Amino acid sequence: MIVKRIEELGHEMREWRRDIHAHPELGFEEQRTSDLVASRLASFGVEVHRGIGKTGVVGILKNGNSKRGVGLRADMDALPIQEANTFEHRSRHDGKMHACGHDGHTTMLLGAAKYLAETRNFDGTVHFIFQPAEEGIGGAKAMIDDGLFKRFPCEAVFGMHNRPGMPLGKFAVRSGPMMAGGAFFDIDVTGVGAHGARPEAGIDPVLVSAHIATALQSIVSRNVRPVETAVVSVTQIHGGDAYNVIPQTARLSGTVRAFSNDTMTLIGKNLARIAEGVAAGFGASAKTDFRMIFAPLVNDAKEADFAASICAELVGADSVRRDPALIMASEDFSYMLAEVPGCYVNIGNGDGTGACEVHNPAYDFNDAALPYGASFFARLVEKRLSTPGQ
Ligand SMILES: [Zn+2]
Ligand SMILES: [Zn+2]
Repeated sequence: MIVKRIEELGHEMREWRRDIHAHPELGFEEQRTSDLVASRLASFGVEVHRGIGKTGVVGILKNGNSKRGVGLRADMDALPIQEANTFEHRSRHDGKMHACGHDGHTTMLLGAAKYLAETRNFDGTVHFIFQPAEEGIGGAKAMIDDGLFKRFPCEAVFGMHNRPGMPLGKFAVRSGPMMAGGAFFDIDVTGVGAHGARPEAGIDPVLVSAHIATALQSIVSRNVRPVETAVVSVTQIHGGDAYNVIPQTARLSGTVRAFSNDTMTLIGKNLARIAEGVAAGFGASAKTDFRMIFAPLVNDAKEADFAASICAELVGADSVRRDPALIMASEDFSYMLAEVPGCYVNIGNGDGTGACEVHNPAYDFNDAALPYGASFFARLVEKRLSTPGQ
């Protein structure tokens, strides 16, 4: 059952959500959004800390004497997408759009904060973590580097993302790896430039690059254990400017996805060795730059069971999927989960017509999901930090 008082806040949450949707801001530029979050939290009686990870906000709500603390996290940033929707709350900012539902995530956490501040039916400390810049530019890491978990100690941390196509009132929770880690790479190949008609006078980095791109496809099939899931994609090859010139250099770039740091490291090492070895075989040289952008997102088994039990209490065990498929996309809440055990859950954004994918110009967060998500956060706190005698 959804928390009754939160259901009553549904209309108010809808207004907040649509206001945020209409005023999207990109990563680390969430000025209006963080102002709005901070002033709402303050109006609920929550202690507000700002400027953590640039535009990040943390709200502290204490009750009772317990030293225990939990963290609840929402993301606030929008995407550089031109919104195609024409409804009243469409984006007012050209080329920017809440196309991933972070407007909804922020609102659900605000709703939980309002309810918990009113009812105070827990013993301990809740940290409401409003993170900037989730979309690939390191907001979670920026907050951690600013001392997030040292300043606001949490025994566990929880996050949530909407999932289009999953019916309203459904949740999905996995133990262990849930979303892939992501790395980017560049390989710079250096040969010897020559006239296009006199290849014997040079070393062709274009040909070398083609061989490297082919050879890299053996990493997943021959180096990674078959039971692991991984992707190596060469997505760019650049080299040369003229029809009749063998260039001096060429560059290959691409992305790697995997579900454990060990697999990521293994792929990074093999990628560099193969690139350098293949290049050397042709008399050329190669230099590899391999950069982790997202860590794999790994849910703690115990916390996943706990989160699933809260979802089951809200919507019934039949509406909680415990074995959803692995997701090849990445999410930087993974960096928080690498610091503190916790769990990330998916919440249904609705199916049927209009169940538009995230990052699509026609996407919109489903307001009907707000009471479910806010209830999840609220009940999680009440159960986790249950007052004595409850
Ligand atoms: Zn996104
Ligand atoms: Zn997102």
